[in-house]
Parts: sequence; C-alpha cells; structure tokens
Amino acid sequence: MLSARSTSTPAGDVARADVAVVGAGPIGLAVAWRCAARGLRVTVHDPAPGSGASAVAAGMLAPIAEAYFGERDLTGLLVESAARWPAFAAELTEATGVDLGYRTDGTLLVGLTADDLAEARRLWAYQRELDLPVTPLRPSELRDREPALAPRVRGGALAATDHQVDPRLLVPALRTAAERAGAVLVPGPVRALSELDAAVTVVAAGCGAAALTGLPVRPVKGQVLRLRAPGGAPPGFRHVIRGYADGEHVYLVPRTGGEVVVGATVEERRDTDVSAGAVLRLLRAAVDLVPELAEYDLIETAAGLRPGTPDNAPILGPLPGRPDVLAATGHHRHGIVLTPVTADLIADLVTTGVPDPLLAPFRPDRFTGPSGSVAADRGEPARTSEEDPWN
Ligand SMILES: Cc1cc2nc3c(=O)[nH]c(=O)nc-3n(C[C@H](O)[C@H](O)[C@H](O)COP(=O)(O)OP(=O)(O)OC[C@H]3O[C@@H](n4cnc5c(N)ncnc54)[C@H](O)[C@@H]3O)c2cc1C
Repeated sequence: MLSARSTSTPAGDVARADVAVVGAGPIGLAVAWRCAARGLRVTVHDPAPGSGASAVAAGMLAPIAEAYFGERDLTGLLVESAARWPAFAAELTEATGVDLGYRTDGTLLVGLTADDLAEARRLWAYQRELDLPVTPLRPSELRDREPALAPRVRGGALAATDHQVDPRLLVPALRTAAERAGAVLVPGPVRALSELDAAVTVVAAGCGAAALTGLPVRPVKGQVLRLRAPGGAPPGFRHVIRGYADGEHVYLVPRTGGEVVVGATVEERRDTDVSAGAVLRLLRAAVDLVPELAEYDLIETAAGLRPGTPDNAPILGPLPGRPDVLAATGHHRHGIVLTPVTADLIADLVTTGVPDPLLAPFRPDRFTGPSGSVAADRGEPARTSEEDPWN
C-alpha cells in the first residue's frame, strides 16, 4: 500500500502524513514506531499521551492465565504476541536505553479455599487442553517457590511463560522510540477523522475509538491499588501471583522497585471513581493470599477504562468501505501483551495493503450487518458519549 515517503503528496504539501495515528497509548505509539521505522511520515494525535488505560494497567503478559473458555482465537493472538515480547522489549530498550521492567519470573495461579481451587482447576484443565504450559503444583511446591504465600492457600499451578512489563515505563519508551524514528506528536484531540490529512489513518484511541468510528468499543472500568514494601525493599515475592480468595479474583504484580500492583475490578461503568468497597475487597483478597502485604504502604488507588468489545477481542483492520482507515483498538484486558503483534500486523497492512491471516478473526466487519454499516466518520463531528449507543 505505502512505501517509504512514497505517497502522492501534492507538490509543496510537505506536511501531509503517510500515516496519521489517533491515540498515543501503547497501541498507537507502537504502530507509529513501526511505521516510522519503515520510513513512513507519521503523525500521532493525542491531547494527553499515555493517559488512557495503560496509565493504570498492571502489565501482565499472560496469555495462559488469560486463556478463558470460548476465546480460542483471542488466546491464539495472545500467545503469538507474548512470543514476540522478548525481541520487542530488547529492541525497544536498544532504541531508547530504557529499562521497561520486563520480568520473566513467571506466574503462580493459586486457590485459597477448596472451592477456589476447584474453580481454578476447571480453567487449568481447559488451558492444558489447548496445550498451554500450566504445571500443577502441590501446596509444598508452591511455598517452596513463594514462601510469602499464606499457609491457607490450598494449591496452585505455575504458568512459567506468563511474564510482566511495567506500562508506566513502556509507554514513555514507545514515545521516545517513535519520535526518534521520526514520528511527530501532535498534541490535541481528533474530533472527526475528516480533520486528518493522511494517506492512511490508524484509529488507536482506546475507548475514544467508538465516537470516531461507530465501532462497538465500550469502557470497562478497572480499579487497582499500588502498595510499597516497607523501607523501599523489594517485595517479598518475585512471581506474579493470580488467584481466587474466597471467590474474589485478584492479582499481585511485584515490581523490582518495591511496588506491588493489586488488581482489579471489572465493572460495566464509565466513571473512574475509586470506591471504598473495591479497595476493601482487593486488599482483603491480596492479604489472604500474601499476609505480609498488610504491612506494606498503600501508595495509590486508581481506576482506568479498558476498551472492551462484545467478544473481548481487539478490532484490527480496515473499516468497512474505508480501506484508508484502519482500526487498532478494543484491546480490553490485553493491550499491553498485544502491543507487539498489533504494531507489527498493522504496520505490515499499512505498507503492503495485504492483511496477515492472523488478522482474520479480528476484522472490524465482524460486528456489522450484511450492509456492512459501521458508521465510519465521514466528516461529522464526534458524537458525545451520551449520544453514542455503544459507549
Ligand atoms: C485496571 C487495568 C489493568 C490492566 N492490566 C493489563 C495487563 O495486566 N495486561 C494487559 O495486557 N493489559 C492490561 N490492561 C489493558 C490495557 O491497559 C489496555 O488494553 C491498553 O492500554 C489499550 O491500549 P490503547 O493504546 O489501545 O488504549 P489506551 O491505553 O486507553 O490509550 C488510548 C489513548 O488514546 C487517546 N485518545 C482517545 N480519544 C482520542 C481522540 N479522539 N483523539 C486523540 N487521542 C485520543 C487517549 O488520550 C489515550 O492516550 C489493563 C487495563 C486496566 C484498566
């Protein structure tokens, strides 16, 4: 489709971009980096880069723990993207000198009570059916790996290949890499796609994509806490710990700098208020699994809005009837793990015009009727969220 600096830019119109990216979250910035590195002229439009869901995200790269019933296509994409993470992280660190907090200690999946363990085991059985590497552990084996786990924890499993990265380090690094490759950040919101003058537009605006495209992307609220080990020491455990504690699902993500991210609620709401009840439930579940967390400082409570879709999978590819507008949105709970594969596949699509077969299950037109009418913006101003039936 596009080759380096090859668009039919009118003489004298040096400002026309090959690619305009809407949204400077992890997805938009990674797409911009990949496109700019191929020699394309790229602009990235965002009034507040990095202020979306990624600002609160835990950064688990967890295709195994996140392999849920009925989501095989999504699981395949998660596995594919997670496999790209080591090279992606190394390349990004090489390009920027930034340590991303990328850690490969693995993930422990645990159940506190017999009921919790029974629920977890159903999922592990399904994950093993898919040939995903989940290794059941006896309670003694669990505690050998993580002595900080509560003695009450009944059992668990190891997902050694589920890793983590720190999104608060990742997103600024992606911005630096994109800018060093030549992408230009344009501070300001895009209210209608018709404002943009580019050969190809990539809509990577997270929850903002619905108002620009009519795609069914809705906010799914998640509340998270951040704790810090006393005296700035590293947390007393090194694996990501995910599990069920008296029916409450919780994850604990230890960072090298001493922080532990505790998350997260999943709520069909669009506000970013933090509720006392959510803090109480998350803290209780966290301390049930790892008692020493009661001694940690509570340093932050926050809420973010995941860009959710009707089938929990991202929306990747051209809008129906608009081959010049590519969606890269709807990454819901998985935008961090899916960053490398999304950036690669969308940059390939921009440059070749040919969609990789991996994109097939995630096309935007899976949500349209026979008429193919996703209401791609053709110049109208963005709808307000109240008018937007999808939001
Ligand atoms: C509590 C929580 C925990 C999470 N944990 C994980 C995790 O462990 N692992 C994982 O993989 N994912 C996780 N996620 C999901 C992940 O954060 C998102 O999927 C990811 O951030 C999506 O990236 P994005 O770039 O598409 O959108 P966002 O990060 O939301 O960024 C969108 C950007 O678009 C901009 N924008 C919006 N509208 C416009 C407009 N009209 N014009 C210009 N710019 C616009 C915004 O300002 C923002 O900067 C979590 C999310 C939450 C809320």
